[in-house]
Amino acid sequence: MTLINRFSVRILLFFISFYSTVLVAQENPIARQYGEQVLLSDLKDNLSIIASDALEGRKTGSRGQKMAAAFIRAHFEELGLAGPVDGSYYQNVPLYAITAGNAMIKTNTASLQNYKDFVYTGLSELAGNETEVVFVGDGEEASLEKIELTGKVALVIAEKNINDIPTEALLSKGAKAVMVCNSKDEKTFTAYANRMKRSFESARMTLKKPASGGQMGSIIFVSSAAVEKILNEKFDDLKSYSSDPKKLKKIRKVKTGIISYAFHNSIKLVNSENVLGYLEGTDKKEELIVVTAHYDHIGKKSEGAGDLINNGADDDGSGTVAVLELAKVFAKAKAEGNGPKRSILFMTVTGEEMGLLGSQYYSENPVFSLSSTVVDLNIDMIGRRDPEHKDKPDYVYVIGSDKLSTELHQLSEKTNSIYTHLDFDYTYNDENHPTNLYKRSDHWNFAKNNIPIVFYFDGIHEDYHLPSDEVDKIDFELLTKRTKLVFYTAWELANREQRIKND
Ligand SMILES: [Zn+2]
Repeated sequence: MTLINRFSVRILLFFISFYSTVLVAQENPIARQYGEQVLLSDLKDNLSIIASDALEGRKTGSRGQKMAAAFIRAHFEELGLAGPVDGSYYQNVPLYAITAGNAMIKTNTASLQNYKDFVYTGLSELAGNETEVVFVGDGEEASLEKIELTGKVALVIAEKNINDIPTEALLSKGAKAVMVCNSKDEKTFTAYANRMKRSFESARMTLKKPASGGQMGSIIFVSSAAVEKILNEKFDDLKSYSSDPKKLKKIRKVKTGIISYAFHNSIKLVNSENVLGYLEGTDKKEELIVVTAHYDHIGKKSEGAGDLINNGADDDGSGTVAVLELAKVFAKAKAEGNGPKRSILFMTVTGEEMGLLGSQYYSENPVFSLSSTVVDLNIDMIGRRDPEHKDKPDYVYVIGSDKLSTELHQLSEKTNSIYTHLDFDYTYNDENHPTNLYKRSDHWNFAKNNIPIVFYFDGIHEDYHLPSDEVDKIDFELLTKRTKLVFYTAWELANREQRIKND
């Protein structure tokens, strides 16, 4: 070997050692050691249970949801995590569901059909026997001349938004209820009725108790066909009296109809729960990293043939099992003396599909103060590949990382470049994107309280909210990679010297 060659070898060796020092400085071998313990087999085993038919789609408040909660709780317990809600793993979340009850209208000759001839959405108890129905045109003052409403039902025809129809005035003139025909045509009414039917069947839930009474409590929406049956007049004639000022006098000549009616929808209390597992940190334990995923889903389809169970394997079984796996790895690290500096809350929440209700409840009744909550890493759907990335490298949509903390955004990017090398797709990060995803999963209830978040997501696919969102469609290799990404990001956030700063 000549001198010059020896010299260049030395330079080469210098550069090799220089770069490997830099790499070693970047990659934390302890983090790597635990990151490698995120196992595909665990994710698969757990998801096969969470998304199995036995859990019936895990609808909020249902038996299947309770089974999922019990499974998650047992997992946390087995890992030795603490139940942080006065010793319990459950944070009870009381929800209200409006359920459809009695709904009937009878004329002397016909029985009208619910969701076909009429729709009642209110929460009052409304009933009348052999009650007169008085036609009041569009309900405005001019149409009411010489019309007596006390104890009667007023019937309005007006192609207007319900808020622009003077129902309050009619009620204050003594009407017991107001029937409104405001749909453009029969088709529009049918579409509206079907929508309301579905909404009642899915038992939409709220955190606040819905007020009974109110304006909607006394309003019954009717179709034009129902109007003809009730008043025994041609609908088009009646409509022309309402809309043509020259025909106003004809309104009071319309003979009253007679109906018996009864309506009673009710509010049902639904008890659900967020499931929390807490791992206490070492020297910065007052500060908290939160990892979330919603473990409930939309339950079963109410009608149709074939498979009716919305398994929600991707939505959000995938996020749920990722949280379980992160809990496992961090608990193991702690047991081996490598526990995180900051505390970590592993939280699977309820009611996401009903409007982010479980995470909203947590943010309004936080178990740990929100000011000591450093970050929320939220995982909602990470087990699939969307059509846009069909033949592309492994990816994940990253949403929200740059909204409140540049430091978080940089950390998220850097962690991925060191450990996981996924393509970060920021398509949905745009707050003006029509899908509005920044506000559409549980992280939003942290972000709106100024807590930085990252939301991990795989995109919209053809099985979204369908019974075909099944375990066998999950790409477990990719789910494992993405779970590792969240793990390394959480590890860095939990162990770095300085808490990440908001901008
Ligand atoms: Zn979801």
